[in-house]
Amino acid sequence: MTHVLTALAWPYANGPRHIGHVAGFGVPADVFARYMRMRGHDVLMVSGTDEHGTPILVQADAEGLTAAEAAAKYNRIIVEDLDALGLSYDLFTRTTTGNHYKTVQELFTTLHANGYILQQRTLGAISPSTGRTLPDRYIEGTCPHCGFDSARGDQCDNCGRQLDPVDLIDPKSRINGETPKFVEEDHFFLDLPAFAEALNAWLDTRTGWRTNVLRFTKNLLDEMHPRPISRDLDWGVPIPLEGWADRPDKRLYVWFDAVIGYLSATIEWARRSGDPEAWKRWWQDPEAVSYYFMGKDNIVFHSEIWPAMLLGANGEGAKGGEPGSLGTLNLPTEVVSSEFLTMEGKQFSSSRRVVIYVRDFLERYSPDALRYYICAAGPENQDSDFTWAEFLRRNNDELVAGWGNLVNRSIAMAAKNFGAVPEPGELEDVDRELLATTKAAFDTIGDLIGANKVRAGIGEAMKTVAAANKYLADTAPWKMKEDPKRQGTVLYTVLQAVSDLKTIMSPFLPHSSQRVHELLGGEGVFAPMPYIEEVADLDEGGATDGPYPILTGDYSDVPKWESVPLVPGTVLEKPVPVFTKLEPSIVDEEIERLNA
Ligand SMILES: [Zn+2]
Repeated sequence: MTHVLTALAWPYANGPRHIGHVAGFGVPADVFARYMRMRGHDVLMVSGTDEHGTPILVQADAEGLTAAEAAAKYNRIIVEDLDALGLSYDLFTRTTTGNHYKTVQELFTTLHANGYILQQRTLGAISPSTGRTLPDRYIEGTCPHCGFDSARGDQCDNCGRQLDPVDLIDPKSRINGETPKFVEEDHFFLDLPAFAEALNAWLDTRTGWRTNVLRFTKNLLDEMHPRPISRDLDWGVPIPLEGWADRPDKRLYVWFDAVIGYLSATIEWARRSGDPEAWKRWWQDPEAVSYYFMGKDNIVFHSEIWPAMLLGANGEGAKGGEPGSLGTLNLPTEVVSSEFLTMEGKQFSSSRRVVIYVRDFLERYSPDALRYYICAAGPENQDSDFTWAEFLRRNNDELVAGWGNLVNRSIAMAAKNFGAVPEPGELEDVDRELLATTKAAFDTIGDLIGANKVRAGIGEAMKTVAAANKYLADTAPWKMKEDPKRQGTVLYTVLQAVSDLKTIMSPFLPHSSQRVHELLGGEGVFAPMPYIEEVADLDEGGATDGPYPILTGDYSDVPKWESVPLVPGTVLEKPVPVFTKLEPSIVDEEIERLNA
């Protein structure tokens, strides 16, 4: 048994998330975590909403809310959506908790003590009329990289690049239109060049990474600069240094605190579990492994910056140093990055209304229909396109006509003819062959999921479904009225295959596997689901706005990843279909909805 940290990218709490987001970080990570638990590993799946930074403030301004109110609003929506999708988080929390603030400040303090945080003079914007610091979000200008004319002081929403206000062409205050004055001031920088050598050595020890992630990260090492970690901002984690901690206009940069969330969420989980030291099993045990899941726009933070921060906190960069109070912390085992999901050929964009929110999707379709699409056709190794026509085809031709039909036909026939799982007679070669196929599928598909090849994994599972459907067609048990013994043997064989397949399918499609388990006469929880719990912040000092929802669950009693013999005589009833066939008209309806 190994301790496996499954670390998912932190969805940003400035709006509801769309299906492209959950295709990148959510579903692939959940498949992995569910499988690893079934293999007997001690999995901890953590994340939360990323709630600091300028875009939250911009959204809050637009809605007439405080930043804390806006963050709380979207945190709740996102928690509910991830719950509905069945993502089996051990803890999904937030970056505004007191526990997170403490952990971030502790890591900053250690990095600072080890000499990896530089204080440098830089140009900051002030308002000429008031003489006060002008926060990044109130400065707008033309992006020097792409020419977008309403880039903000810290980021261009068009090309996604991080900016400094001084980079903007023709900067203007969004408050009163005046041109800001730039004055020298101090800010903090992470000394990335001090980690170049250690990062390079660490990357050389990585195996099994997707080649694009490794290549991209190696290229980053060629040109490393100190990276700013503080901003002119009044929303975020205060800088824990004398003369800075009380300043209302200086905060740690949102990315710096967000990546520390993996650690703080594990600590919060341990504290809530009643064993406050338990987090160390995933972070300090050298045998523990950690897998980080995200979209490709986030690779840099997980394969370069977060490892650099961990090296610095461990005292393992070029300047040496000592581990802080959190001890020596594990670097990522693997950074698993997805490409982008587009929609009907276009980039998802909330502002251009090219978007399908998770919530809207799940109001009309089942969570497993979405999970199936993402597993089978998601952007695992290259960008992939979501189209409603393809969703319809995958749902109807593969999920309903393939897996759903196998479940329905075999259980219905057994229920009708025997009212129970029949007692098998002597197996024939064709029976043994099918059972050998499903048994072998555990190894093949398990290895694929373990290597984060979800697309190939579900492809193999559907091939096994096809083999079972072919077996039914070839043996034709509905023609065996005269030979109930042989009919019973065939139905027993196919039900055993269905039972194996519900286990194999459960990491991908947990909701329907639970249903199949029940249709086969099983009791209790087969594929455990997360649940929402309202909690109070554990500590003072954060920015949560009263009690808030966390996503958590009890996954201690999951079935093993293996074939379990069916018990003849188990009562079966006429099944209700597990999946819903969709009308072809949904394609036009959905496209119309999009253009409305
Ligand atoms: Zn730009």
